Amino acid sequence: MEQKMLAVHGGEQTKTKSFHRWPYCDEKELANIKEVLDEKSWWRVNGRKIEEFETKFAKIHGVKYCLGVSNGTHALEIALQTLGIGRGDEVIVPAFTFISTASAVIYCNAEPVLADVKPDTFCMDPESFQKAITSKTKAVIPVHMAGYPCDMEEICRIAHEHGIKVIEDAAHAHGGEWKQRKIGSFGDMAAFSFQNGKIMTCGEGGALITNKQDLYDKAYLIHGVGRPREDTVYEHKVLGSNNRMNEFQAAVLLAQMERLNSFNWIREQNARKLDGLLKEIEGIIPQAPAPVGTVDTHYMYMFYYDKNCFGQLDREDFVKYMNAEGIPCFIAYPVISDTQFFQQKQFGKRIKISRKYGEGDLKNARRIAREVVWLPHYTLLGDDADIVEIVTAILKIKGNC
Ligand SMILES: *Cc1c(COP(=O)(O)O)cnc(C)c1O
Repeated sequence: MEQKMLAVHGGEQTKTKSFHRWPYCDEKELANIKEVLDEKSWWRVNGRKIEEFETKFAKIHGVKYCLGVSNGTHALEIALQTLGIGRGDEVIVPAFTFISTASAVIYCNAEPVLADVKPDTFCMDPESFQKAITSKTKAVIPVHMAGYPCDMEEICRIAHEHGIKVIEDAAHAHGGEWKQRKIGSFGDMAAFSFQNGKIMTCGEGGALITNKQDLYDKAYLIHGVGRPREDTVYEHKVLGSNNRMNEFQAAVLLAQMERLNSFNWIREQNARKLDGLLKEIEGIIPQAPAPVGTVDTHYMYMFYYDKNCFGQLDREDFVKYMNAEGIPCFIAYPVISDTQFFQQKQFGKRIKISRKYGEGDLKNARRIAREVVWLPHYTLLGDDADIVEIVTAILKIKGNC
């Protein structure tokens, strides 16, 4: 094969047209925002968009209640607070996740205890979860990593056996399914994020869903400085911050939600095509395909990158080369206990961490953090040519190593 000069060295870029725009919007968002502007009620107290959004978002996830909130991190914090998690409690979280899954626990003055993940699914390993349980364990937060649904039967079974609450971190998994049942409907509560890069977005935003009215009612109070719905006399029933969603966020989300299923479907088709093509490339191993009857939302397309098959080219350089070829991609999250914040115990007076996580622990999470590269979801929203160009760029880099 003729060797082409890499774009990073001044050669021609592989990507010939742009990927799908993200965030994506059309006249629907605009019309909804205009309605809010004209309403002259831009908050939830006498607006209508947030309630409409909550009703629909709960419905598509097959649950009774949804509470729109300020962002996904706050959604996790409110869920923990609602379930009464606090000082002296332990909450088990996967070692491989975005920081908020663990930091939300610390914000509630509880200790996050790290469980390892599975090497193929990148989701919490139920066995490792079980091993991490102590008499102080009050909750577990499985993360549907990159959209791959966690084994919720097994996680819930273990949790119920030990009287542990389950909070699903569904920040990557809007509209996802585990064996024909909606993500977010397994746990006591589930938290979603609508941050700019997520598969449904309003810039910043979040939601909690649950089937339990008492949890919904309590979360509602907490998210609005402890104030009941119809209150006009400043009666604050519980301690809470202000984590309310506003009407503009809901206006955008209502439009985004209409495209969710079709976008999820397009990404699934393209992910399967990409899996098929990458199978031929030595040194690239994608996250496992989800079982039949399951909806993987593909928030990220993740794969192991083995530099031994790329002439010892470091993963960071591979990412740089890919970016130069016009393919956006990134390195995976660090393991939670390897972040500076965790290493230096920057927790203020909130918690003292008793555990140490050595090199031999969290083996799978460490390997993923060290070797995985991911493509953002909008790279899977285009046509066949987009998929082929991703593969072409990888082969071009490989050919130059
Ligand atoms: C994005 C994300 C969050 C936090 O959501 P924000 O809306 O950004 O606060 C929580 N957990 C995971 C796994 C995430 O990826």
